[in-house]
Amino acid sequence: MEYQGKQVFARHGIETSPGGVATTVEQAVAVAERVGYPVVVKAQVHTGGRGKAGGVKLAADAAEARLHATAILGLDIRGHVVKVLWVERASEIAEEYYASFTLDRSAKKHLGMLSAEGGVEIETVAASHPEAIARLWVDPTVGLTDDMARTWVSAASLHPAATEGAVRILQTLYRCYVEGDCDLAEINPLILTPAGEVKALDAKVSLDENAAFRHPEWEAFAGTEDLDERERLAQARDLQYVGLDGTVGIIANGAGLAMSTVDVVSQVGGTPANFLDIGGGASAEVMAAALEVIESDERVRAIFINIFGGITRGEEVANGIVQALGRSAPRSPIVIRLDGTNADEGRAILEPHLSDRVLSRPTMLEAAREAVSLAGR
Ligand code: GDP
Ligand code: MN
Repeated sequence: MEYQGKQVFARHGIETSPGGVATTVEQAVAVAERVGYPVVVKAQVHTGGRGKAGGVKLAADAAEARLHATAILGLDIRGHVVKVLWVERASEIAEEYYASFTLDRSAKKHLGMLSAEGGVEIETVAASHPEAIARLWVDPTVGLTDDMARTWVSAASLHPAATEGAVRILQTLYRCYVEGDCDLAEINPLILTPAGEVKALDAKVSLDENAAFRHPEWEAFAGTEDLDERERLAQARDLQYVGLDGTVGIIANGAGLAMSTVDVVSQVGGTPANFLDIGGGASAEVMAAALEVIESDERVRAIFINIFGGITRGEEVANGIVQALGRSAPRSPIVIRLDGTNADEGRAILEPHLSDRVLSRPTMLEAAREAVSLAGR
């Protein structure tokens, strides 16, 4: 959420306004009294467009702060109910800009985007006049130098008064993005005040989970992610799971295979219900947990277990599946494709357990077709 993004920003020295978190109207007024009026009262939800939805309001005094906090708490913004507020000292705005860094995987570089047209969603700017976004690819081994930042700022046509402040904040944002292990660090709007200050009014940060081991401070964010019920269940069971909208549940070992499985299911006319990588092991515990998470999704009509034995041998996988099925009978029919190391031994173990509810198919394509056909019935 915004306030958490601002905490990450603050740690790296990016200019933001003083403020505080509130979960009640009383707390909101107390924060307002502390930071001084005027304040802005802001809904904290995992979605943008809060301004337009009535989730961002200026208050000139305690009575207004109370009024807005009362109105915003409990407000439904694009399906997200507001439970937390961020109240900060209001800024005067001369201009609103957009700035962000993300990873451009194909270019193997960081991609910076800067636009003089901030405040609105960047997708809107990109769609209506893409030339208004100045893109800069930063080589991670070089970083964002002064000269690069300056040229970039002038390419984006920010107000001349914003140049120095923008160069500084962009370099700080870049450091925050790299050292803070972010996938995305976005400021929208980045503002220029009438007094010539440049600062971040909003913050959107996405953290690279793989770097969590070197960020003990991220623990403060645990449990506040915007996960759906299935994803919450999966996270509690340490499974790599992404919920999708389809009817074919997918279990695969290895992220690459899980992705191919999603593709193959789509190619043969099915719709994947999820992406689930059970990783290297395929013990009964992991398999049972995977089935439980998939079955918690009511849209699922068939389950496709796609395992390629490597270090994990076929018979271990087969035993894991058999034991997991023995614990609780899944609601949906299951199609298993088992290949790789000791696949024959594994299939022999599965054989006595096969039925019209538990099927085995020798190839990924055949298994995908069968699963999709079962899901359609
Ligand atoms: P979003 O709509 O979810 O992106 O929420 P933002 O935090 O970006 O706020 C939306 C808009 O509210 C901004 O683009 C500003 O125009 C306005 N806004 C936010 N904070 C302030 C402030 O401190 N002062 C003023 N005058 N306007 C603000
Ligand atoms: Mn914004």
